[in-house]
Amino acid sequence: MTTVTAAQAAYVVAALLFILSLAGLSQHRTSRSGVVWGITGMVIALAATIGLASRSITATGLVLIAVATALGAGIGLWRARVVEMTGMPELIAIMHSLVGLAAVFVGWNGYLDVDAELTGSLLGIHHAEVFIGVFIGAVTFTGSVVAYLKLAARIDSRPLTLPGKHILNIGALVAFVGLTIAFVARPGMGLLIAVTVVALALGAHLVASIGGGDMPVVVSMLNSYSGWAAAASGFLLANDLLIVTGALVGSSGAYLSYIMCKAMNRSFLSVIAGGFGTPAEDGEHGEQGEHREIDAEETAALLRDATSVIIAPGYGMAVAQAQYPVAELARRLRERGVEVRFGIHPVAGRLPGHMNVLLAEANVPYDIVLEMDEINDDFPATSVVLVIGANDTVNPAAIDNPASPIAGMPVLHVWEAGQVVVFKRSMAVGYAGVQNPLFFRENTRMLFGDAKQRVEDILRGLDSLDTPTQAMATTSR
Ligand code: NDP
Repeated sequence: MTTVTAAQAAYVVAALLFILSLAGLSQHRTSRSGVVWGITGMVIALAATIGLASRSITATGLVLIAVATALGAGIGLWRARVVEMTGMPELIAIMHSLVGLAAVFVGWNGYLDVDAELTGSLLGIHHAEVFIGVFIGAVTFTGSVVAYLKLAARIDSRPLTLPGKHILNIGALVAFVGLTIAFVARPGMGLLIAVTVVALALGAHLVASIGGGDMPVVVSMLNSYSGWAAAASGFLLANDLLIVTGALVGSSGAYLSYIMCKAMNRSFLSVIAGGFGTPAEDGEHGEQGEHREIDAEETAALLRDATSVIIAPGYGMAVAQAQYPVAELARRLRERGVEVRFGIHPVAGRLPGHMNVLLAEANVPYDIVLEMDEINDDFPATSVVLVIGANDTVNPAAIDNPASPIAGMPVLHVWEAGQVVVFKRSMAVGYAGVQNPLFFRENTRMLFGDAKQRVEDILRGLDSLDTPTQAMATTSR
């Protein structure tokens, strides 16, 4: 078997492993094996690619590949080991930016190093591929860098609203089409530089125009773009595996964006055009009345008397790493015969499935973890809701206030329960930067402090409430 045939066979195996990996990752129970399939596919793909390349490169080239692989693997391992769960979206955004940058370099290389055998319409197609690859790559690169800066709170997450922003975006797209036609007709460095600059500016502007609340869609959308950027590079490099893998990432990212848009009641086109998330004009940042506080012991007493409890976790539970005491609290309440369930908003936390991952980590049984749609009708019949570090995802302004930046986003109807206890450290706003009228409702009590410490205090509170009962039981025996 020649090296080329062996490499092609390895590519087919790797592509199948990537498909198996995606299938595995779609469910909690199989997600670990999904990761193993993915790693195996990537090792095979890398080995085959290096094997193919080694036929035509010098010893220095091979050393450079080895150094690049070692450096990349080292940085990847280090980042993946140290990253906090809450920092995953930033890590993903920065990885997407690297895919975009690589696509730009591959595109530029495709212009500088044209295969001498390409002539006529094939050469035209090649130049169109160069342009498309550079365009998608550059949009992905700056878009991901801005997304990283927003997610890491290095820049304001509020949307940038330049005058005529939609015209600017459409203008950039029209310029891209015009430049592509000109480049295919008469390729030149000036045109390539122009499209790179237009695409870099468009990527930064698109993501800068999107409000904080819509960032989940942006992250999955950039995921999709990075896939298409990789597929475009695959065409340029005539690498089938890169085309297949890019298409898998591109289409799964697009589907995830569709799911996120549906969950947030957003139109996909409006989000990518930066149409949502305009800043609040009605003073929503200020407080909206009196809030009432509760302490951990009172909360423990409330829970002791409850018949049904729903826990609505959010980003703050992840920050506080409160999932373990929360799982313990759920277990203790269930032992007492209280019906306990978790209500999970599709964009709670900072990455899709964030809360599910944390709760699974703390061994909360899957059957009491329900999606928003499955649980939203049950709040009126619920005695107590514990909102643990959630804010935007339980904000009634999304329903009541059409002027709110999160208007129309489906939320958990926690306020319909008998009593709501909100765990957070202050009256600060959530990720979307909007004040939450839930905090000022008659049946809401604020339990201030770090969520993990407060839940542990409640567990102790339950212990001390139990002690007198047990003491009395012993005496009466
Ligand atoms: P929010 O970000 O709206 O609010 C989290 C709350 O947790 C804050 O109000 C904060 O209040 C509180 N908090 C922070 N640390 C602690 C702590 N240690 N202990 C107790 N409370 C704490 O969270 P949600 O999960 O409700 O909403 C997610 C938001 O993130 C949405 O706007 C969503 O669109 C966005 N987003 C989601 C992504 C996803 O894929 N899921 C990706 C990107 C963005 P305080 O500071 O007062 O403690």
